Amino acid sequence: MKSAIQPALINDPFGDPGLLVHFLLQKRALLFDLGDLSAVSNGTLLKVSHVFVSHTHIDHFIGFDRLLRTLFGHEKTLTIFGPKNIIQNVKGKLAGFTWNLVEQYSESLTIEVVEVQESGLLKATFRAIERFQLCDERKEPFVDGLIVDDSAFSARAAILEHRVPCLGFALEEKPHVNIDKDKLESMKAEPGPWLNELKQSVLRDDPESALITVPFKGRSRTEDIPLGQLKSNLVEIFPGQKIGYVVDTVFNDRNRKKIVELVKSADIFFCESPFLADEEERGQARCHLTSRQAGTLAREAGVKQLQVFHFSSRHKDCREQFYNEAQEAFQG
Ligand SMILES: [Zn+2]
Ligand SMILES: [Zn+2]
Repeated sequence: MKSAIQPALINDPFGDPGLLVHFLLQKRALLFDLGDLSAVSNGTLLKVSHVFVSHTHIDHFIGFDRLLRTLFGHEKTLTIFGPKNIIQNVKGKLAGFTWNLVEQYSESLTIEVVEVQESGLLKATFRAIERFQLCDERKEPFVDGLIVDDSAFSARAAILEHRVPCLGFALEEKPHVNIDKDKLESMKAEPGPWLNELKQSVLRDDPESALITVPFKGRSRTEDIPLGQLKSNLVEIFPGQKIGYVVDTVFNDRNRKKIVELVKSADIFFCESPFLADEEERGQARCHLTSRQAGTLAREAGVKQLQVFHFSSRHKDCREQFYNEAQEAFQG
C-alpha cells in the first residue's frame, strides 16, 4: 500500500542536517530543521506549512533567512516549533531586517512560533503587516508530547539533552482514503455525499458486507453495493506513516527512554550519528550519538527502517562505516 507522504534528507549526511516531508496529494510540505536549504527549490519552500526546529545551533537554524526571503510577500501562515527560547531566536532574526515598506505589499506573511517547554506550549505571533512585532503571546497545555494535530498529520516532541534543550520529533500521518475518479466515471456512479460516507466507512473499518447506497447517472433508482466491492473497485487506501527525527543529543538513560517512546514502531527513523562506534567518549563529551547508539535506539524502538545522518566531517572517508555500524546494532 502506498503512503501519501514522502520524507527525504535535504543534504548529504556530511552536510547540514534537515528533512523535507512532501505530501504527495496536497501542495504541502513540512521541514525538520533549518540548516543549509540551498538544495531546496523556492517552489518547495512555498509549500512548507510547518517547520520543526530541534534547536538553534547554527547548522540547524541558518536557513531561517532563506525561508523568510522566499515566503515574504506571500499570504501565508508558517508555524515554527522549537525548544525553549525559540520565540526570542525568531524575534532576533526578524529584528535584523528593516520592515518600513511592508505596507506596500498586498499579501502578508504570518509566522506562528510555538516554544515547547515541559510546563506548556508558549505561543507567539509575528505578522509582516505589523512589521513582525511580537504579539499574542499565550500559553497552552503540553500533553503527551502532542504539539500539533492537523487534519493530515499529528506531531509529538520530546525535550532531549544536548547541553541545551533539543527537540526530537515524531510525525504521524493520518490514514486517508482516495476515490479513483476514472473508475467512478466508468461505473457511471453519480458523485455526491455518499462518497464521503464511503470514505468514513473505510476508515472505520466497517465489515466488507456493509451496504452503501450508490446513485447512478441517468437512473432514478439507487443500488446498495457491498463495501468490499466498492473498496476493491473504487478506493485507494493510504495508511498513515510514522516518521521519527532525532538529532544532536547525548546517549543516557533519560534520553534513551524518551527517544524510544517517541519513535516507537516508526516506519522510518532519521537519527543523527556524528561519531563512529568506538568514539563513545567523544560523543558523551560533545553530547552527540555514535553510529552504534543510533542503531541501538532504533532496535529498542522497534522501528522498521533506520536512516543515519549528520556525520562528522572529520570522518569524510568513513561513510560506509557509519551505515554498517548503525545497521549492525539495529539488526542486533
Ligand atoms: Zn548539529
Ligand atoms: Zn547542536
